[in-house]
Amino acid sequence: MITARTFAGRRYAVLGLARSGAATVEALLASGAEVLAWDQAQEVRERWAGRVTLRDPLATDLAGFAGVIVSPGVPLNTHPIKPHADSFGVPVIGDIELFAQARPELPPHKLVGITGTNGKSTTTALVHHVLKTAGRPATMGGNIGLPILAQEPLPGGGVYVLELSSYQIDLTRSLDCDIAVLLNITPDHLDRYGSFAAYAAAKARLFALQSPEHAAVIGIGNTAAAAIAHDLAARGEQLDKIAPGGCMDQTRWPALQGPHNAQNILAARAVCQRLGIETAAIERGLESFTGLPHRMEHVARRGGVQFINDSKATNQASTAPALAAYPPVNGRPRVHWIVGGQAKEPGLAELADWTSHVAVAYTIGEAGPAFAELLKPCVPVEPCGTLQAAVQAAAARARAGDVVILSPACASFDQFRDFEERGEMFKRFVAEIAGILDSGPRDTHAG
Ligand code: ADP
Repeated sequence: MITARTFAGRRYAVLGLARSGAATVEALLASGAEVLAWDQAQEVRERWAGRVTLRDPLATDLAGFAGVIVSPGVPLNTHPIKPHADSFGVPVIGDIELFAQARPELPPHKLVGITGTNGKSTTTALVHHVLKTAGRPATMGGNIGLPILAQEPLPGGGVYVLELSSYQIDLTRSLDCDIAVLLNITPDHLDRYGSFAAYAAAKARLFALQSPEHAAVIGIGNTAAAAIAHDLAARGEQLDKIAPGGCMDQTRWPALQGPHNAQNILAARAVCQRLGIETAAIERGLESFTGLPHRMEHVARRGGVQFINDSKATNQASTAPALAAYPPVNGRPRVHWIVGGQAKEPGLAELADWTSHVAVAYTIGEAGPAFAELLKPCVPVEPCGTLQAAVQAAAARARAGDVVILSPACASFDQFRDFEERGEMFKRFVAEIAGILDSGPRDTHAG
């Protein structure tokens, strides 16, 4: 656990006691702070009885508090905690900011912060993996699901690799990354930010928080991210621009297929080079990376058909590279694409370039009927409704050399708890039909 003397004797309020909130309370208590904590779920907050003051910060006089720590899931634009804390002049911050404040007490280290609309987790895990395989002490945390304050402090020379969502950046005031990475910015989370410009500005803050001598790595494949790179270059800051990596030979990196992963590879390479890792060690790390679940995850190969779980693709920008990764062979499209769920954006226009790769689209979920209508003029469509029906239909039609991929371009909440549950169900349905496929390659092909 990461603790700091700077927190000792101070009072903090913690709102939200899920994973990062719980780690925050533990770290603050172990540092000698006084903690008032609250969670809307009674059974969650009762676990803390006797160790903290259990009271809703909204019903508390916050005068004298050093901070209110909220989970990134709390919508700051609408939640009353922000004006309430503001009325006492108390900052509303996140666990990442506490980490930033604890840094001066940690042994000398480097901090890498990675953000972007898509590719954060993959690139974070990849940088961490390359560092570890190169023998450099490293730990990862943040949005990847590992609260940073729960991690063990690194020995001198170590590297903390943080995955940062825009919500986490919003809750940060003094995070000065040695290397800050922005992979891309495409429309997302507009319910929280109101406009695309405001969302892009939230990402740009990661660089504004950096000391001028620190470095930036920025993907310039889209306009909003390229504009941030342009501003940094104009100020003469250290910058690696990552061009869209569409034309690389990626055969050496089995877990990193598709043009989006080419970009993630280039970004990870740039970071590791800046950290002084030798080229040969970087290449070894890239080659041995096994990938993360639910992101272009290879699930099974049966009868020459490959099954890929890309349940994490919840918007068009993340589905586009998945479809792009499997071009037609001998002019024959081979992607059996399971698409749909709860749409986060209207239409499928961003995917128009890749429908030539699609053999059949199998539509599911709330957006299914509308997507079926949109897709019908360009590809054969089988409306399926449920994921299970889609897996069965795709397995029945795919033949050797084809790819069945769940890359829904939608959130999962209409039919599943989250994208992880959707991906796990996909794997289960694939396992269930494996018997059918084991009988050999299909000989039907849907044009
Ligand atoms: P994040 O943590 O930002 O959500 P992930 O690494 O979990 O990103 O990947 C999320 C989805 O986006 C996956 O479907 C993945 O295939 C796709 N993806 C990964 N990297 C990129 C990228 N650089 N550009 C666009 N899409 C990407």
